[in-house]
Amino acid sequence: MNRPERILMATRNPGKIREMRRLLEPLGVAVVSVDDVAETAGPPPEVSEDGASFTENALIKARAYAVWARLPVIAEDSGICVDALDGAPGIRSSRFGGVEGDDARNNALLLEKLAGIPEQRRGAHYHTSVVYLERGDAEPVICEAQWHGRILEAPRGTGGFGYDPLFWVPEHGCASAELSADQKNRLSHRGKAMRALVERLSALWD
Ligand code: IMP
Repeated sequence: MNRPERILMATRNPGKIREMRRLLEPLGVAVVSVDDVAETAGPPPEVSEDGASFTENALIKARAYAVWARLPVIAEDSGICVDALDGAPGIRSSRFGGVEGDDARNNALLLEKLAGIPEQRRGAHYHTSVVYLERGDAEPVICEAQWHGRILEAPRGTGGFGYDPLFWVPEHGCASAELSADQKNRLSHRGKAMRALVERLSALWD
């Protein structure tokens, strides 16, 4: 497998793009965004993330974007799994409250569903599956990671995105929205999965 000059990051979530650019710095490869590619390749594909798992959804996105951009692609799918809700919202995390990407609704519904559930039964973890595809028809490189914590009873902090104001980080004794970007990257599901991917790709490209 060859080291490419450019990799497309298959996400339109600005919070994730920011995090991923930092995490991929060690690869020394230019990371381009969907908007950069759209200037020459036209509108990006409409991808329905209808897989049954985080990994299936990441693969669906990676394939569609690699075919569209004719570039190597990194795609990820992530979400939060809450023990007391049998793992929900899981792969439906970004549309839990009914509106895709509406963090306020998602967080409000999560608090509502956990109302009255005591601290010791509010365990949860974030999960990330990340996929690298050299071409649309290539064998994928897949890495997965989790970050364990629990769901607070009220939001705290203003950093991060998504469920971060509600995610209690035992290692730091605060919500993930109260961590700096560097602190979050060191601990988070995405940080761990991306570091594993960076290691795998560096070894494959040597
Ligand atoms: P995706 O964009 O389909 O992967 O959906 C990810 C969704 O999971 C986001 O919209 C968030 O709601 C949630 N999520 C994933 N990672 C994080 C994180 O690091 N912090 C907070 N929420 C996250």
